[in-house]
Amino acid sequence: MKVFDLACEHDHRFEGWFGSTQAFDEQLGRGFVECPVCTSRAVRRMPSAPRLNLSSAPEPRPQAQSARDMEEKGRKDQKDRKDEKGQKGGEVAAAMPTPQQLQALWMKMARHLAENTEDVGERFADEARRIHYNEAPERGIRGVATREQRAELEDEGIDVFSFPLPAAAKETLQ
Ligand SMILES: [Zn+2]
Repeated sequence: MKVFDLACEHDHRFEGWFGSTQAFDEQLGRGFVECPVCTSRAVRRMPSAPRLNLSSAPEPRPQAQSARDMEEKGRKDQKDRKDEKGQKGGEVAAAMPTPQQLQALWMKMARHLAENTEDVGERFADEARRIHYNEAPERGIRGVATREQRAELEDEGIDVFSFPLPAAAKETLQ
């Protein structure tokens, strides 16, 4: 799994999660990558390096390859030193989150969002507007909004961001 920093033509920054760089390029080429703020498909990848890389497949990009090799070498050196001291490499492995750990993190984030926002469900767009115009108390809210509603909010200068809740979290949160 790779996390890319992306930006749309309106310079909205968001993250995209992809199986690989190739998968990203492919989905971008087919117009599947969409800005969660304004739904624009004119999306580009920001220069920053992916923060997570759980894939063990070799990198297709040569410069990324060398950085990765050095990273891996460093990790190996660390592991070797640990092994010399008669310890297992458990701690080293723990530094790379497993898909299960990643999912747990995501769930934690979803729970955090849920705990710190009020679920207003279908009234999301109305409520966001009321808060924006000081007709309702300032607070974090979550709910559902259609693409059109999101675009309208965006036009009015109201900040909205999409967080796709994992299916499991949806069941417990909604
Ligand atoms: Zn956008």
